[in-house]
Amino acid sequence: MTFESLGLAPALLRALADNDYTTPTPIQAQAIPLVLSGRDVLGGAQTGTGKTAAFALPVLNRLSKETPPAGPRKPRALVLVPTRELAVQVADSFKTYGRHLKLNVTTLFGGVGMQPQIEQLRRGVDVLVACPGRLIDHLDRGSVKLDAVEVLILDEADRMLDMGFLPAIKRVLNRLPKQRQTLLFSATFEAQIKQLALEFMNNPEQVQV
Ligand code: AMP
Repeated sequence: MTFESLGLAPALLRALADNDYTTPTPIQAQAIPLVLSGRDVLGGAQTGTGKTAAFALPVLNRLSKETPPAGPRKPRALVLVPTRELAVQVADSFKTYGRHLKLNVTTLFGGVGMQPQIEQLRRGVDVLVACPGRLIDHLDRGSVKLDAVEVLILDEADRMLDMGFLPAIKRVLNRLPKQRQTLLFSATFEAQIKQLALEFMNNPEQVQV
């Protein structure tokens, strides 16, 4: 199995070669073709399995195929994460794999000033990686619009629920276009996660490593 055979765009294959990635990990081999096909995906995977690239690569592939509108851009991919550390890590992965594409990747998390984030949002964003609480703050102020989101990714969903983010996640979900692709990654699948998937995903395919 190679990344070429998964059908990723040449700009992404080049970035993978730059990083000496030769072989997809099991979660990548399973999830990438499904995400590329447009399906909703429920991924059961721990950190360290390569799950970030499993969603970042096909999402970047999708964004690279469209011509972004002229002028400041609204986020077309939204990644919700539990912590600022994970936000930085996931955003770095999008930047690394997307280095040969002209896309803006921005993070939103609490504990820092709103103003620099507002300015970044004004400059235009393609991929937004956000913690739910701070995203709600921006939604309430009107500094971010989510009506152009085509793909939503819930990363480490079980940790987000453990941290009490369910109400914030539901508020965000209700602001997103109904017609979108939804990907949910979690190490565990307790009842609350299954309920969330049932409520907000469209016939998801489950992959597990
Ligand atoms: P993650 O599970 O997403 O946190 O990724 C774990 C680590 O594996 C990260 O440091 C990635 O850079 C690395 N990684 C992910 N996919 C591959 C791959 N196909 N080949 C080599 N390293 C990888």
